[in-house]
Amino acid sequence: MNNKIICEKCGAEMLPIDPNKPVGMTCPNCGWGWATTYIDPEQEDDTVYVISLSKGNIATIAAVKAISKITNKNFVQAKKIIENSPVDIYSGNAVQVKDVLLLLESLSMAYCITPEFPYSLNQEEANTED
Ligand SMILES: [Zn+2]
Repeated sequence: MNNKIICEKCGAEMLPIDPNKPVGMTCPNCGWGWATTYIDPEQEDDTVYVISLSKGNIATIAAVKAISKITNKNFVQAKKIIENSPVDIYSGNAVQVKDVLLLLESLSMAYCITPEFPYSLNQEEANTED
């Protein structure tokens, strides 16, 4: 396979910006280049985050359903998790835990995440002035 890419500015062979990721090409001779794909830092983050349900959440039907979904346990077990908190309920990478955090946030449930989650949970940037 021969798919050399030649710099259109100076004719040198271009090199990948990062040999491990398809992020773009750069010319080692003149520095010309481009980025092909914007990689979301959340997608690249392979940290394992652990979500722990905090003590004091109320086992409402919605909360039990959410914990059941997050933990893949039945409603009886999910209710016990809420009542016995703090309990670790989920671990995963940034993309995976974000969905769980959004669900917990939507129900105003108290939780801890370790390490601290560095990304915004806002699906849409809020435009409100208040
Ligand atoms: Zn060049």
